[in-house]
Amino acid sequence: MKKVGNQAQKEKYLPKLAGEYAGSFALTEPTAGSDAFSLKTVAKKDGDDYIINGTKMFISNSDVAGVFLVFANAKPEAGYKGITTFIVDRDTPGFTVGKKENKLGIRASGTCMLHFDNVRVPKSNILGEFGHGYKYAAAYLNEGRIGIGAQMVGLAQGCFDATIPYLLERKQFGNDIYSFQSMQHQIATIATEIEAARLLTYNAARLKEAGVEFTKEAAMAKYYASEVAQRATIKCIDWMGGVGFTKDFPQEKFYRDCKIGAIYEGTTNMQLSTIAKYIRKEYSS
Ligand SMILES: Cc1cc2nc3c(=O)[nH]c(=O)nc-3n(C[C@H](O)[C@H](O)[C@H](O)COP(=O)(O)OP(=O)(O)OC[C@H]3O[C@@H](n4cnc5c(N)ncnc54)[C@H](O)[C@@H]3O)c2cc1C
Repeated sequence: MKKVGNQAQKEKYLPKLAGEYAGSFALTEPTAGSDAFSLKTVAKKDGDDYIINGTKMFISNSDVAGVFLVFANAKPEAGYKGITTFIVDRDTPGFTVGKKENKLGIRASGTCMLHFDNVRVPKSNILGEFGHGYKYAAAYLNEGRIGIGAQMVGLAQGCFDATIPYLLERKQFGNDIYSFQSMQHQIATIATEIEAARLLTYNAARLKEAGVEFTKEAAMAKYYASEVAQRATIKCIDWMGGVGFTKDFPQEKFYRDCKIGAIYEGTTNMQLSTIAKYIRKEYSS
């Protein structure tokens, strides 16, 4: 909204988004996940309004959001080029937020379905340009992947930091368990992988800040950091032994919370496809 919203939209929503309520980004649908632009939610023109019908799935923060960026096809005959972004207020008649999903991790973040049953919005609620929704979604997700990379680095590092002191304290066979070489080599491997994930994330952020192409690097950072976070948290639980498997220690929560990194904002497979697409382009030109 900050980038493509008009002045009236910014004045109406940005102050509220900065303090009063959260916003949600509503792209995914029950039958449109990785293939996001095959979405079926439609927006039909009716005078100066649009009428939205459809269902969105897995929408983060939708339990508390006051406003939703809804991607709907307003010109299905144009394919994905009909996808348009609509600003929908939570209290718009016909719009309902479904129950919270009962998730493995990131349980503090509410994830719900959204239902649109003849939801009427004025055309002034179109964000940016008509038919440019697919561009905005792609741009948002490209940037977002740097954020997911950072989220995963933080989870991996947090878990590692919560684990090493225990390994230095815990004694078996008369020694602290950190002192065993087989433990040290695993710890060194994971520490190196976390550092590599961090540098990939910084690199993608650096390119973005510099205003140059960063899609491949953001996909690399998101892919690698989410895989590393899974490996790191599994290893930390292993290193803790039985207590790592209990809820008395934070490792199991880190483990559950990082699983989503390889799924949302594009699964690991989709990141690898993006990286491969860019490599092909580089070697074909
Ligand atoms: C907790 C949570 C929060 C979310 N928040 C949001 C949100 O705020 N807004 C939003 O719009 N969406 C959100 N999502 C949706 C999320 O982005 C999708 O779940 C994700 O993109 C995967 O889509 P899917 O679940 O339909 O899986 P599918 O697309 O059905 O994929 C299932 C499997 O098939 C693989 N696959 C699919 N296509 C291919 C292919 N072409 N090549 C190789 N493998 C393939 C995938 O990699 C995956 O392993 C959220 C999801 C979750 C779980």
